[in-house]
Amino acid sequence: MPNRVLGILGGGQLGLMMIIEGRALGIRFYVYDEHGNAPALQVADRAFVGDDWRELVLSSDVVTFEFEHVNPKALANAHELGKLRPSITSVMVKQDKIKEREFLREIGLPTPKFKIVESRDELKSIVKRLGKCVVKAPYGAYDGKGQYYINNPSELSEVPNKYPLLVDEFVRFSREISVILVRSASGETKFYPVIENYNHEGILIYSIVPAQIPDEVGARALSLAKQLAEALNYVGVLAVEFFVTSDGDVLINEFAPRVHNTGHWTLLGSITSQFENHVRAILDYPLGDTELLRPSAIVNILGKPWDEDMVNKILSIPGTKIWWYNKAEVRPRRKMGHVNIIANSIGEVRKRVFEVMNIIYGEETEKILKSPWPKPDM
Ligand code: ADP
Repeated sequence: MPNRVLGILGGGQLGLMMIIEGRALGIRFYVYDEHGNAPALQVADRAFVGDDWRELVLSSDVVTFEFEHVNPKALANAHELGKLRPSITSVMVKQDKIKEREFLREIGLPTPKFKIVESRDELKSIVKRLGKCVVKAPYGAYDGKGQYYINNPSELSEVPNKYPLLVDEFVRFSREISVILVRSASGETKFYPVIENYNHEGILIYSIVPAQIPDEVGARALSLAKQLAEALNYVGVLAVEFFVTSDGDVLINEFAPRVHNTGHWTLLGSITSQFENHVRAILDYPLGDTELLRPSAIVNILGKPWDEDMVNKILSIPGTKIWWYNKAEVRPRRKMGHVNIIANSIGEVRKRVFEVMNIIYGEETEKILKSPWPKPDM
């Protein structure tokens, strides 16, 4: 029997890591991206660019995606041919932040309080009422793009006059956590341990596992993630991001129907990475072990070019590895790579996280960690 062919829509770093991890299983990977220099195209068995998605869908046994905002025609075509995993519903709900929140509300899962506004007047009056809030554009928004932190109506001039918009209450969370699970077509579900995340200006800086939270908070997050996976009849890796409030409430901020930045620690800290488990689930192989081997972390390398000195310094810290994504262009805040960290204790992991951050960000580190947004105690 010939090797199975997995088609990936989207050529970013998530696809790149999926290929490197999945190749050991003997799977062949075809990748489609609009742009010819995307990271995953460089390691694909076959690369499809421009308008060539139809050919990718036809020649793959199963099609998945590594980014929600890929060509909708390609997603629809893969769905029509019965090849798309996870389902088209999971990705369509996720393409639009308003639909996503409404879906979560419909299935009875807790989210931050939110309103959908259709005009500037409505927006002004909501801001007057809520005070501090986060205004979010519903489409094409990720990594904090299209997101505005507003304290009072006078600050609304920075928000584009394009509606509808999602307005969230500003959640004074004590922690941000996420759950990564993998679910098979038969409904078997495995969970990775709960992850603690630190974001700055809407983008992930580092994640640490296991999260330092009370057991009942962790159990609640796992149960909510499971309910969401069941409601979506989900197959593959699903990531769910939560805010934990100071009184222990657990609210879903958003989910991702794919492998996720906060799950990159699994490349070193677990027997089966999230990437391999996603591949296993969507190709109907048995799911792999998700237990934590040792306390782990990742630090994102944002907006920095390849630098020999930086790489040498990071690699001289025990228990570190670098994943570099080979993006053609460096842009401010762009995810250029990440560092995996593993250690014998959570204290040692934390120490190494800050060492790595100082190497990458130098004097900026303090500013990043002293962001005006709530941050985990250090
Ligand atoms: P994106 O899809 O761009 O990642 P998110 O909605 O996940 O956007 O927001 C990114 C980060 O911004 C969150 O992880 C959190 O740190 C912050 N954030 C988003 N919404 C809120 C909110 N309602 N209250 C407080 N912080 C928020």
